[in-house]
Amino acid sequence: MRLLLVEDDRLLADGLSGQLEKAGFSVDTTRTAREAMALGQQEDYRVGILDLGLPDGNGLDVLRQWRMNGANFPVLILTARGDWQDKVNGLKAGADDYLAKPFQTEELIARLNAIVRRSEGRVQSSVKAGRFELDENRQTLKMDDGAEHSLTGTEFRLLRCLMSRPGQVFSKEQLMEQLYNLNESPSDNVIEAYIRRLRKLVGASTIATRRGQGYLFDDTL
Ligand code: CA
Repeated sequence: MRLLLVEDDRLLADGLSGQLEKAGFSVDTTRTAREAMALGQQEDYRVGILDLGLPDGNGLDVLRQWRMNGANFPVLILTARGDWQDKVNGLKAGADDYLAKPFQTEELIARLNAIVRRSEGRVQSSVKAGRFELDENRQTLKMDDGAEHSLTGTEFRLLRCLMSRPGQVFSKEQLMEQLYNLNESPSDNVIEAYIRRLRKLVGASTIATRRGQGYLFDDTL
């Protein structure tokens, strides 16, 4: 799941992106309002973290610009402690949640998962599709017979992408976009390799191939 982190404090951004990657996000980081505006409109992000005080502008203007141009992914803004006006203005400008600095990364990740869930119309912290249930907190896959398998980071991200929209066809390019950030350049057949591994887990027919189009999660049998 692609995440855009807009934060000009390099130390904070570096620490955060590592922990966010561990939590199953593929993270792009930028420190300027200008680049944030462009990336938010160009790339297919599922969630964003936006610091309000940026060296070349205000995060609120970035947010307004995104919303004006149809970038609808959920956004959490980072505010200064006690600055209630920032929070109100942020929510009015289209933010979905806020967190005051300094914060615990665990709380940030819990809040991010919550706004992503809401944007996908889910209530629970698991993704259910057919006989399968993906546990976001533990990064495991539960089967209907009660068996539970732990997943590697990439397996988890790929499966979450497919299971969050069962029946929808994802091209290899779309899956790569959700799995890797802009700095990574994995080889073309990496998706195929992971699909093969996941099929061993969920059954070959559950992840169907549409020739020339891509893959879909189909557990309607
Ligand atoms: Ca700042």
